[in-house]
Amino acid sequence: MRKKISFAGPWITERETSYVKEAAAEGWYGNYDKYMKEFEDEVKNYLGVKYAIGTHCCTQALHLAAVAIGLKEGDEVIVTDHSWVATAHSIAYTGAKCVFVDIIPETLCINPEEIRKAITPKTKAIMVVHNFGIPADMDEITSIAKEYNLKVIEDAAPALGSIYKDKKCGTIGDVGCISFQGAKIAVASEGGVLVTNNEEIYKKACLFASMGRTDSQANFWSDEMGYQYTIGSLPAAMATVQIRRINELVDNKRKIYGWYARRLEQSSKIQMVKEKEGTFANYTYPACFLTDEVEVSAQYVENKLRDYNIFCRTGFPQMSRFPMYEKRFETPVSQHFYEKGIVLPAAHNLVEEDIEFVCETLLKLVS
Ligand SMILES: *Cc1c(COP(=O)(O)O)cnc(C)c1O
Repeated sequence: MRKKISFAGPWITERETSYVKEAAAEGWYGNYDKYMKEFEDEVKNYLGVKYAIGTHCCTQALHLAAVAIGLKEGDEVIVTDHSWVATAHSIAYTGAKCVFVDIIPETLCINPEEIRKAITPKTKAIMVVHNFGIPADMDEITSIAKEYNLKVIEDAAPALGSIYKDKKCGTIGDVGCISFQGAKIAVASEGGVLVTNNEEIYKKACLFASMGRTDSQANFWSDEMGYQYTIGSLPAAMATVQIRRINELVDNKRKIYGWYARRLEQSSKIQMVKEKEGTFANYTYPACFLTDEVEVSAQYVENKLRDYNIFCRTGFPQMSRFPMYEKRFETPVSQHFYEKGIVLPAAHNLVEEDIEFVCETLLKLVS
């Protein structure tokens, strides 16, 4: 059997392992919060934002964001229908309703025109995802938000290092969240961060990240029904080094994307999804459509590639089809990407000949 061609996986060097070892030995007593603070400082520094809160995972950061902008039962939030389910659940945890809208095929990110159509007097916010690390149309989205006085949460979970017109993804809306889960471009085992330039959002998120503890009446006094959502020293130490290496990590993902594009763009059976002009994708997950010339489904391709020890994925199923959400939404592009979209393997350990083998096998399966 050939080498396993993993869908995703990190690039870990001696820098990470030795720093995690240091945190394991030293991150106590006077240094008990040193590695968490350093991680938050590294994030603020790299992204150029005022505030950051490290969390155990990005889902927690997204939930904190939803709480911190004041979402509650009776509110509506406009959410892209194509994403990992954490995007929607983090809104629904607050009691607010998810109003799902479609994506555009060019970026697989939320369609600004569809956002406009979905606005009602109850709409409070827009939840944007930079899907697969490709920047969403933030100019249009932020101008709609301004017009209707809506908050914007950026789910930038897979988009560390992606840039929209000189602004780093995660820093453009009112609040942004990034993941360091093991399949992302930069990893911490599990880890996430909430970032914002808004002091009010930051303070509320801090309060809810640490059990609503205020110490207002006594030490350990709590004034809010908060959560325990903070990151630990070991994942913080690992993520710190990964952020310091982010340019190298992004270069590697873009190199892998380039190998795919060079080969697959020659075929009329495959349509690569690429960054729009003026934007810079980190290409954490290179994505493509099987074109109308292809009869087989993405699911068929995913299953067949596994016989060659190649692990790709189809698009996400539409979140609006899940049992806990209302069934009234029509999102044909999301559906099409689920049926005919392939997310190609782009683990950091893949080399050019691995990608060539994937391309060759994929093209055989679809012809
Ligand atoms: C990975 C991911 C998340 C969740 O991140 P965790 O750190 O696993 O909680 C949320 N949204 C999107 C779009 C993701 O890709």
